[in-house]
Amino acid sequence: MSTRISHWVDGTVTAGTSGRTAPVYNPATGLRSGDVDLASAAEVQRAVASATGAAREWRSTSLSRRSAILFAFRQLLHDATDDLAKVITAEHGKVLSDAAAEVGRGLENVEYACGVPELLKGGFSEQVSTGIDVYSIRQPLGVVAGITPFNFPAMVPLWMAANAIACGNAFVLKPSEKDPSASLVLAELWKRAGLPDGVFTVVQGDRVAVDALIEHPDVAAISFVGSTPVARSIYERGTARGKRVQALGGAKNHMLVLPDADLDLAADAAVSAAYGAAGERCMAISVAVAVGGIGDRFVEAIAARIPKLQIGDGAAPGTDMGPLITAEHRDKVAGYIAAGEKSGAKVVVDGRDGPAGGFVPSDGGTPGSGGVAAEGGFFVGATLLDGVTPDMSVYTDEIFGPVLAVVRADTYEEAIELINANPFANGTAIFTRDGGAARRFQFDVEVGMVGINVPIPTPVAYYSFGGWRNSLFGDTHMYGPEGVTFYTRGKVVTSKWPDPATSTIDLGFPTTR
Ligand code: NAD
Repeated sequence: MSTRISHWVDGTVTAGTSGRTAPVYNPATGLRSGDVDLASAAEVQRAVASATGAAREWRSTSLSRRSAILFAFRQLLHDATDDLAKVITAEHGKVLSDAAAEVGRGLENVEYACGVPELLKGGFSEQVSTGIDVYSIRQPLGVVAGITPFNFPAMVPLWMAANAIACGNAFVLKPSEKDPSASLVLAELWKRAGLPDGVFTVVQGDRVAVDALIEHPDVAAISFVGSTPVARSIYERGTARGKRVQALGGAKNHMLVLPDADLDLAADAAVSAAYGAAGERCMAISVAVAVGGIGDRFVEAIAARIPKLQIGDGAAPGTDMGPLITAEHRDKVAGYIAAGEKSGAKVVVDGRDGPAGGFVPSDGGTPGSGGVAAEGGFFVGATLLDGVTPDMSVYTDEIFGPVLAVVRADTYEEAIELINANPFANGTAIFTRDGGAARRFQFDVEVGMVGINVPIPTPVAYYSFGGWRNSLFGDTHMYGPEGVTFYTRGKVVTSKWPDPATSTIDLGFPTTR
């Protein structure tokens, strides 16, 4: 039975009126599980009108009350982790433990935002001139929008919403139309936590909804996470209309493996970071740069590990890797593998034939015995390409699938040049036992998030997340301290309580001496 997935406006589920919907699938079975409403521009206007009214009240709500609601939301979200993970897996396909981990990383952001009274403390300078004090405060922007990708349907909205709401804004979420249900679970939890209606709004939709948010004069800021072409376009169109925009784009994350690296540790890390969530992570490792003589042994070590991966329905016990998000995406990823092979890369392990170790059946039975996952799901097995060169499309393009490309480099210098020349610069990692080499890499590399023997260096919530170059358009990284900066604007007050009896006219420019 297909479920209707609607908007959340004024604190309640609101059926769409545009007459447009999009299908939602369970990627493990390929079966259609729902239909999501796609908002018209008029529906977005109504949602923003509700948020605008709510924002006025919400910014007047005391910090302690806001903090109390965030603490309540934190507990509800924590308690709902497993249920929310099931909702994510059913529409995204990632394994349940990965979905629960996504909720956990989102929870960290809520916990950070619980400290909003501390985060919004301003500065105070007493007696800057005789009888004059100066102090700074940070105030909310009003209505802010978040446009989010399919690959983290709970975590990325929480990256944005936790700080935006804590800072006193009303937040309008436009989730991915491919896995929209998690947004409504979050909406319910916010309501149960005591958040006033209209402070958290969900408009389901596609480009029409995004364009309406960009055009709307009452939307003060847009946070976007998704692919680079869309990120660039939203940044350019949003800023042209005077909005504050942070737009995080795609990635091509390189893992640099020096000859002295611990081979087993590096191979385990490469397999985990390349094939986790079927490579549909913006921090996935998609290129391994093997320096010097370690290349052959490194490729062999990865190839030996791949057949051990349990691939199948993410909801089945014991599965390591699930399907891709859509049939179109599966075909696109397979097309990249074919293009890599045609352009001369060696296909060491070919996921187009299905998983090297066979599928895990949906009941979690013996791998290789087939099952529903093998029949209808959007699967590509873990794939390893060797001898990849920078001119190949498997190197230049973000594939966003379980495909690891190994590039060989003779020296560290050659490897770092490659990484720094790549248009994407989201994350990167070095594997070495040499502390000096690691420190040099950290200094040399022109990428926003760096791992040292850590393949997926996603910062904790009290730092901020963001790449460089085509992986982020805008001035601030997302969440953490930079998130608070993004969702507030500064005001500086110069204050004097004079004795009216001493008042005079003085046309001179005010000085402090
Ligand atoms: P996407 O760009 O296709 O979609 C992202 C959002 O934009 C969705 O809500 C979608 O409805 C909307 N959208 C899509 N096309 C649009 C258009 N033409 N105009 C306006 N809005 C549009 O991305 P996706 O496929 O959902 O997610 C995967 C991408 O997101 C990958 O490129 C991945 O690297 C990136 N990503 C980046 C980060 C990061 O932090 N840098 C994190 C997660 C995902």
